[in-house]
Amino acid sequence: MITTESLATLRTIFGSKLQENVRLSNFTTMNVGGPAAALMIAHSAEQLAEMVSQIWDIDLPVYVLGGGSNLLISDKGLQAVIIINHAHNIKINTHTLPHTIWAESGALMVNLGKKLILRGLSGMEWAATIPGSVGGAVYGNAGAFGKDTCKDLISADILHKEHGREIWECSRLDYTYRASRIKRDDEKAVILSALFHVEQGDVEQIKSKISGFRSRRALIQPPGASVGSVFRNPPDDSAGRLIEAAGLKGKRIGGAVISPKHANFIINERGASAQNIFDLLLLARNTVSEKFGVNLIPEIELLGEWDNLPEFFRSGKQSTLEQK
Ligand SMILES: Cc1cc2nc3c(=O)[nH]c(=O)nc-3n(C[C@H](O)[C@H](O)[C@H](O)COP(=O)(O)OP(=O)(O)OC[C@H]3O[C@@H](n4cnc5c(N)ncnc54)[C@H](O)[C@@H]3O)c2cc1C
Repeated sequence: MITTESLATLRTIFGSKLQENVRLSNFTTMNVGGPAAALMIAHSAEQLAEMVSQIWDIDLPVYVLGGGSNLLISDKGLQAVIIINHAHNIKINTHTLPHTIWAESGALMVNLGKKLILRGLSGMEWAATIPGSVGGAVYGNAGAFGKDTCKDLISADILHKEHGREIWECSRLDYTYRASRIKRDDEKAVILSALFHVEQGDVEQIKSKISGFRSRRALIQPPGASVGSVFRNPPDDSAGRLIEAAGLKGKRIGGAVISPKHANFIINERGASAQNIFDLLLLARNTVSEKFGVNLIPEIELLGEWDNLPEFFRSGKQSTLEQK
């Protein structure tokens, strides 16, 4: 909880870097989310590390936001110090084998893709079509088109509340489908930067692969403000197929709609509230469960205060925020 006293302490430590009562809808791809009591922007990995350490020192909840493309934040906002990660340096090294690309965790995956095209480096074309930051991808093992972060990551620079700052080899992140150990176990850790391996390739072939991936996305995925797929695909089935078979394609609540193009996408069509989107999520989950006996698991994280939040929506971070 951010109290008047904790805000006063934050003002003393961070001075003009601290912004108060800022709407988080400006920082999420769904364009929803209520106010943050305290918010700061980190412009480098070093600044991110320093800010997080200082907030841990005063025992306040801290939350790092990358692209805000995998989150649904409540209309009531978040009682935590939010750090918007704008640390976006990227460096390529072709003097070593394997060749590598290093990026600060706030760099966007699409910008990684652009750099790789410019330098004719191959292997991470899939990343060029992922919304969100390097930090978000390392945290959640983002992936597409048969590849994911864990296949290309060498190591990450991690600031851990208990272990301090360390380079973690990829294996230590103990990746599973769309999750790392940090995400699964709600470890108090922040990704500062990441190192990936790439290989020499042909510029035209890389460009054509990326544009093929973009076309495939455009064909299947609806445009508009969303968080991508809202539920994981159950084994041997697809969440979109089940929601469609439950008759929910095109279902609207307030300004939100279950996409008529792909039923695993919810679109903020016209000024939806986070509650509208939450209600559609719940409707989809309950209807699919009643009709087909399949309990869909959310792929996105729900954060903040919700009325009657069911247990299956309660991620580690949600519980952490509630405890404070
Ligand atoms: C249209 C669309 C299509 C999508 N397609 C795909 C897809 O094909 N494959 C896929 O995997 N995902 C997809 N996504 C989901 C999303 O883009 C990924 O999950 C992405 O990796 C999230 O990154 P982010 O920076 O936006 O994370 P955010 O949404 O900002 O944060 C997500 C979580 O990561 C944590 N986090 C972020 N940065 C850090 C950090 N530096 N240190 C510690 N924790 C951090 C946050 O605290 C939060 O818990 C899609 C989303 C959209 C909108």
